[in-house]
Amino acid sequence: AAGPLASSALVKSIGALTGENDLYFFDAISPIVEGDTINYDVAFKAARYGKGGDDYVNCPMNKEEYDRFYEALCVAETVKPHEGMEDEAKFFEGCLPIEEIARRGRDTLRYGPMKPVGLIDPRTGLQPYACVQLRLENLLADAYNIVGFQCHIKYGEQRRVLQLIPGLEQAEFIRFGQMHRNTYICSPRLLRETLQMRLHPRVLFAGQISGIEGYTEAMATGMLAGMNAARLAWGKETAAAPRWSAIGSLAFYLAHADAKNFQPANTTFALLPALEPEVRKVAKKKSDRHRIQVERGLTAFKAWLNEIGESD
Ligand SMILES: Cc1cc2nc3c(=O)[nH]c(=O)nc-3n(C[C@H](O)[C@H](O)[C@H](O)COP(=O)(O)OP(=O)(O)OC[C@H]3O[C@@H](n4cnc5c(N)ncnc54)[C@H](O)[C@@H]3O)c2cc1C
Repeated sequence: AAGPLASSALVKSIGALTGENDLYFFDAISPIVEGDTINYDVAFKAARYGKGGDDYVNCPMNKEEYDRFYEALCVAETVKPHEGMEDEAKFFEGCLPIEEIARRGRDTLRYGPMKPVGLIDPRTGLQPYACVQLRLENLLADAYNIVGFQCHIKYGEQRRVLQLIPGLEQAEFIRFGQMHRNTYICSPRLLRETLQMRLHPRVLFAGQISGIEGYTEAMATGMLAGMNAARLAWGKETAAAPRWSAIGSLAFYLAHADAKNFQPANTTFALLPALEPEVRKVAKKKSDRHRIQVERGLTAFKAWLNEIGESD
């Protein structure tokens, strides 16, 4: 639980356990959109060159729409680096924020993350001038990641600029794009749901270095890893929290997210299992659906604590 700025000696030891490919030093997080807020009158599902399944949603742009988006992106206000972290920008040459790609020329985005090649807009039968691609997030119910749109733009500004993308005019965002210096491991390759390393079960990870973000997430994973470390010391079996609980779904994400595209996560409702269609039909309002998820989570978590004898 040594955090995003873990000391170099510790990072070296962790690297010896994880291997250098599964230890990262900065994150490049793309914004995530709620699937049911995408306008499918404009956006369409298709993989580039028709290769692959239905996991990609495309938002096509004509020249006028591209120019409008480009102009807005170029003037969007960015986040200033944290004090003492002014060198953050230099970490990102290999993975540039979209506003920086845009600054390098009007057409650079059209040859990068917004390239339209291999995509045909079913409304026109033509390849669009530019195209934003969204990819279905595995383990996040009906949530789509805007591919390659990591950025350093202030959240309010991100909403304004991203809603200029045709098909995302009314989009709601589960998470905004971010980039920072960060030390974290590729948990889906390395950790079990108990937060133990798969290959070294007596080593446990918690907090930001395990691939989560935020105060409560750090506390939640710290509690789970701490509990399991104590259980190991007492010779008891380690335990994974139920998937219906916020803690369990976070640990499940760490252990089972897509390792190739792994990005740190906050706790969100989208991390919990989706409600059954018949429940969704009755609970039409989002707040009602969330209440049901919370009730299920609390019930499952209390039952689990009882079951493993940790309820005191
Ligand atoms: C400027 C800023 C603002 C933020 N604002 C928010 C916010 O509003 N809300 C939110 O939810 N999150 C916020 N976060 C994120 C949040 O702070 C982190 O996700 C969270 O604190 C991570 O907790 P952690 O315990 O994993 O790491 P840390 O809080 O970094 O704690 C790790 C500790 O381990 C120590 N350590 C490192 N190496 C060693 C070693 N070898 N031996 C012993 N100790 C060591 C470190 O000194 C540190 O004290 C913010 C982050 C930043 C940088």
